[in-house]
Amino acid sequence: MQKSAVLLVVCCLGGALTFSGCHRAKDQAAKSKSEGAAPPVAEQVEPAPTPVPVNRNAQVVILGYHRVVDNVRHPDTEISKVDFEKQMQEIKDEGLTVIPMRDFLAWKRGEKDIPAKSVIITMDDGWKSQYEAAWPILKKFDYPFTLFVYTDYIKGGPKSGGESITWEQIAEMRDAGVDIEGHTVSHKDLRGAKRGSQAPDYDAWLWKELADSKQMLEQRLGVKVEALALPYGFYNAHVQEMARKAGYEAIFTVYGQKIGHGSNNEALGRYMIEANKPKVFASAVRFGGGGAMDTEPVAEFTGGSLSTEPADGAKITDPRPVIKANLGSLGAVDPTTLAMRVSSLGAVNAKYDAATKTYSYQPATKLKDNRYSVIVTGKAGGKKVEARWGFTVDTKGAQEEEKK
Ligand SMILES: [Zn+2]
Repeated sequence: MQKSAVLLVVCCLGGALTFSGCHRAKDQAAKSKSEGAAPPVAEQVEPAPTPVPVNRNAQVVILGYHRVVDNVRHPDTEISKVDFEKQMQEIKDEGLTVIPMRDFLAWKRGEKDIPAKSVIITMDDGWKSQYEAAWPILKKFDYPFTLFVYTDYIKGGPKSGGESITWEQIAEMRDAGVDIEGHTVSHKDLRGAKRGSQAPDYDAWLWKELADSKQMLEQRLGVKVEALALPYGFYNAHVQEMARKAGYEAIFTVYGQKIGHGSNNEALGRYMIEANKPKVFASAVRFGGGGAMDTEPVAEFTGGSLSTEPADGAKITDPRPVIKANLGSLGAVDPTTLAMRVSSLGAVNAKYDAATKTYSYQPATKLKDNRYSVIVTGKAGGKKVEARWGFTVDTKGAQEEEKK
């Protein structure tokens, strides 16, 4: 049954700032207890920061692609050349600026300004179609972009195949200004789900995945690798800590979100663009209407109530709950402005039912036992509203979870 829950409407000083907090909180419980096996870290040689006035209200959207192909056969990881080019055009038509990763990182450090609505284009794994198909299109638009490659997959590596990019191709792209960043050695779940994070050699293995891949790219290509794309977006606090020790300045997940200046560098969400999810691109490049998001009026709710499921604070045993809110009390909701975010999932594809005024989403896969926060944003009566609530999934239904 639905239960009334207190919802907050907070002053939203840049949506991404608000969202980042919920990502930061995720996976706290999953921190591995094993510590200390990490070899010493090579000190990064950072240039002395040069503070400049930067636009802290700028927003950044990070797009992630895999293969760009003539005919899509695997819509979960491919996009057609035609659609890819259309998207690149749309970025231009929307008046968005594509910036390189290094500008983004400099902006986060407070050293360089970026346009108010910026986009970063990234491509994962090291597919040769990124060289053969995507690059020519990106050149046409003069867009900078980033490759996240895992070293085992590069031609000649133990996991490479007919679709692998070569070191020569990567070097040619590097020479043209393409940014090369890390995606581990073997592309395994870094939380050690398969091998077991309790295994005695887990930390040594994790360190290799993070540090050896970085070192290999840096040594073979003469680049500085500062960013890490997490395989499958999986991480926990221990993975973040080890990545930081290995020298990564920014860590990217696959939970699409608008990035603000205050967003957590250790869980930066990317919108993964796939042929079978055109809406992801549409929502990614929608920066919230005309003006800057920050200047939109926020509804003056000091408190209110929405009926939600699960209820605020509820502990549930169903790992695939229907997550919904009745928005009837918000007044005239503009359904096209609605967005739902769930911690650890990011923006989800929730549906609005005008008849019942409910906005709902059911996770496609089981949620892990954890605490979840839900944030619904949108416009009602011409004002920006934001509602949030939380619940806990505890499939064992008993004691507080304390799993590793
Ligand atoms: Zn990947």
